[in-house]
Amino acid sequence: MHIIVNVLGIAILNCTERLTVSVLRTATKVANSSVCHKKAAARKMAADIKFNSSLTSSDPYYKPVLIIGQLRHLNLLKFSNVSCKLDSRVDETTFKHAIACLHPSPTDKCSLYLDCATVAAVPLKCSRHNTPSRSHAITRLVRTHIMHANEENVVIVCDRGDLFASACAVARAFPLYSRKTSGGQSKSENYSQDEVMDNDDNYDSAKPIINVEFIIIEKDGQVCEEPLNSTDILCIEEAARGIRLAARIVDMPCNEMNVSHFVKEAEIIAKELCIKPTVIRGEELRERGFGGIYGVGKAAAVPPALVVLSYEPKGAQDTVALVGKGIVYDTGGLSIKGKTAMPGMKRDCGGAAAILGAFYAAIKCGFKENLHAVLCLAENAVGPNATRPDDVHTLYSGRTVEINNTDAEGRLVLADGVSYAHKDLKANIILDMATLTGAQGIATGKLHGAILTNTEEWETKALEAGRRSGDLLAPIIYLPELHFSEFASAIADMKNSVADRNNAQPSCAGVFIGAHLGFDYPGVWMHVDMATPVSTGERATGYGVALLLTLFGNYTKCSLLQSIAPNDAEPPTKRVCRD
Ligand SMILES: [Zn+2]
Repeated sequence: MHIIVNVLGIAILNCTERLTVSVLRTATKVANSSVCHKKAAARKMAADIKFNSSLTSSDPYYKPVLIIGQLRHLNLLKFSNVSCKLDSRVDETTFKHAIACLHPSPTDKCSLYLDCATVAAVPLKCSRHNTPSRSHAITRLVRTHIMHANEENVVIVCDRGDLFASACAVARAFPLYSRKTSGGQSKSENYSQDEVMDNDDNYDSAKPIINVEFIIIEKDGQVCEEPLNSTDILCIEEAARGIRLAARIVDMPCNEMNVSHFVKEAEIIAKELCIKPTVIRGEELRERGFGGIYGVGKAAAVPPALVVLSYEPKGAQDTVALVGKGIVYDTGGLSIKGKTAMPGMKRDCGGAAAILGAFYAAIKCGFKENLHAVLCLAENAVGPNATRPDDVHTLYSGRTVEINNTDAEGRLVLADGVSYAHKDLKANIILDMATLTGAQGIATGKLHGAILTNTEEWETKALEAGRRSGDLLAPIIYLPELHFSEFASAIADMKNSVADRNNAQPSCAGVFIGAHLGFDYPGVWMHVDMATPVSTGERATGYGVALLLTLFGNYTKCSLLQSIAPNDAEPPTKRVCRD
């Protein structure tokens, strides 16, 4: 078998045509059977991601390696920069030929040694609404080229500004949740609910390890010889953990991630951060005036909850409240969804999941200001106690809402959340995040969340944070004086669903939430609708965690986050605005 390997190695060395490479790839599939004893072929365990400060030596025969970068960066590499990852299996000529073979359109890859060492290029083009890191391509390349070996390596070649987004992109390729049985053994039956939830590390003691390492290209085109500093590594690790936590919560179906489970997730994070969570549940919500959350969740077997995690360091000047929509399942309520529209509605808690993951990582990265996570948790179920269309509820803001669509429930729970953030937490920056409208996907697409905000300065910052984090955003119009009339009601302060669904629906849905905060709210309000980017295919993306860490990077002590955070000094476009 070793002879075959050598023959193939020589053949690759001589390759100049892509055709030859593809023929070889077919042949190497056979040769790869020799590597199988090192592969966990049927392994479905969640991988453990390790971020290293510099490149470690490894033999690709035993620990496969995937090298990813933009072509202009890969071209700057000397063989000596990567030789430690290729051991004696690949020589300089092969490496140089492989890079010369790459023609990314949009991506491309070339095998260096069987399927065990591969170099891949992300797309060349990057227009102004894209992330320069091309993080989506990184996630895709890692997901498709990972070998599922016991231990393997991903090497990212990028400039310093793309380090954070690239690291987060790799984290997104390794979801934690799986109920697949492996190797004929019904492994999933061995998971107790508590094991799955208590600790992401409990999945399996022999789970595969992914080493993620970086080659940083400096502005002058030189390869940085210094290892990454430990605080940068810590920041990336915590961000990755936050992203994978958020994605796991979103991936888990409602029979394993109901409101009680979600509350427990928040309590675990609170305990780790030495925070005492505030949990308002069930009838207490009704008694204390949270008519939005209570009204949405009261028909479910598991009662709704408002969970607040508060971190208040000494010397804080600003108070930031992050409010998340956590509908653990959305049947639509009595305005029930159809049989094709309902599957996937386990993901309707993506906003709250992202807030929890971001809150965790932000505090681990040394948040300097007051930070609150406000999780609005409910299951929008059907039952004798369900809210009916025509019912009128009084929300925490004190304003009354005539329900004309029980499937427009996210705005009701968020209305309570932002009112609480304003009235009780006295927040001067409130950001709510939600899988709110299907129309978001039509307006801003699969990758970009929609941002609606009352300040142009923070809109600019949020768009920049989107590009730098890889969690992209596109602005939607903020026009409450014209849009709020969509909710006109004859008998209450407002209805909860618009009269005309063809009139800027994502903006109108956000404006409903803003109405409960009050259009005269003097602080900064941002609303992020991430209904589509919450998942790609059948998997959650953990969208939102990297975005929030970057947006509020200057509120942390972390130098990496500060370096990519949108700068306060960048003035918004000056324009005349009449109130
Ligand atoms: Zn709904």
